[in-house]
Amino acid sequence: MQEAVQEKGLYYAPDPASRGTCFIGGNIAENSGGPRALKYGVTKDFVLNLEVVLPNGEVIETGANTLKNSTGYNLTQLMVGSEGTLGIVTQATLKLIPCPKRNMLMLVPFSSAEKACQAVSAIFKAGITPSALEFMERDAIQYTMDFTKESPIKLKDNEQAHLLIEVDGNDTEVLFKECEVIASVVEALECGEIMFAETEAQKEALWFLRRRVGEAVKATSIYKEEDTVVPRYQLPQLLKGVKEIGNRYGFKSICYGHAGDGNLHINIIKGDMNDAAWNNELTKGIRELFELTVALGGTLSGEHGIGYVQKQYMDIAFTKVELELMKGIKKLFDPKGILNPGKIFT
Ligand SMILES: Cc1cc2nc3c(=O)[nH]c(=O)nc-3n(C[C@H](O)[C@H](O)[C@H](O)COP(=O)(O)OP(=O)(O)OC[C@H]3O[C@@H](n4cnc5c(N)ncnc54)[C@H](O)[C@@H]3O)c2cc1C
Repeated sequence: MQEAVQEKGLYYAPDPASRGTCFIGGNIAENSGGPRALKYGVTKDFVLNLEVVLPNGEVIETGANTLKNSTGYNLTQLMVGSEGTLGIVTQATLKLIPCPKRNMLMLVPFSSAEKACQAVSAIFKAGITPSALEFMERDAIQYTMDFTKESPIKLKDNEQAHLLIEVDGNDTEVLFKECEVIASVVEALECGEIMFAETEAQKEALWFLRRRVGEAVKATSIYKEEDTVVPRYQLPQLLKGVKEIGNRYGFKSICYGHAGDGNLHINIIKGDMNDAAWNNELTKGIRELFELTVALGGTLSGEHGIGYVQKQYMDIAFTKVELELMKGIKKLFDPKGILNPGKIFT
């Protein structure tokens, strides 16, 4: 769909790294984001109206095909991110925007992952809103290059993390100026040598690297993935906390994600952790991780949803009253509990 609308000079920005395999219905159900959510918003910002089949077979329209709508409760937004627990989306009216004509991409190495995270909010403080700002720990890049057998970059010994930063727009001069501002911000944080992608092929190679990280990391071991999100200025604290909790519980984590949104994917690697620790102790470690995330002003999932796996942690993000309200909504839509039973709530 992205390609089809681009041919008409239009742009659909939600852009999950799984875009080659996922569907619009799944995107709506999970309120998917991806790298471009930073500047343009997530799926919810692009959905105007939905046709939905309710669990009793009735078909409803949730809104109107308008940019503004202040008419009653917002059923459209209730459906977006409801993980298929309230109804089945059978038709969607989506918003499209003009397609930006140019972009520039740079890869910035840092000798410390925390410094890379500090750079994220510093770039916004300098007045720049990149179209993508992605974070990758050293291991994330190394595993991906091993997995894909493609090496678009050479990792230096002291490089612990990278930021992949894209700016887009219609005016090359403006983009150059934005890149200069970003360069001065990251250099003040002692980054290594900045790599500017000079050709479309180079850009594609860097994006290929970033998009394959999830798959590559997951291919190395049994894993659990958390999708934490915090206000972006809290990212350094979150990353520090993840490593401290990992040290205490004996797990290795590989972190990457949409840093500009404060969205950190934490892949916990089983490696040689024994089954008892993996199945029992780790749950306590993950609970601590989510408690930290919420204490930093964040929440459990930025774009992957709750599903079956994270529902045991919902009490960290919501009070009893809030959870009961949500369960009441589920009951109203689906009194027999036939749609995705056991997802989000027990
Ligand atoms: C390698 C990889 C990378 C990823 N990267 C990102 C990323 O960058 N950003 C991001 O946001 N997510 C990412 N994801 C998560 C996932 O791709 C997204 O959540 C995606 O939107 C899921 O779509 P899908 O079609 O695969 O849905 P499925 O996995 O098939 O379904 C997801 C849920 O939606 C429900 N559902 C599906 N269709 C409908 C419908 N029509 N109506 C109601 N409910 C429905 C299903 O019942 C299920 O509960 C990634 C996943 C993988 C595997």
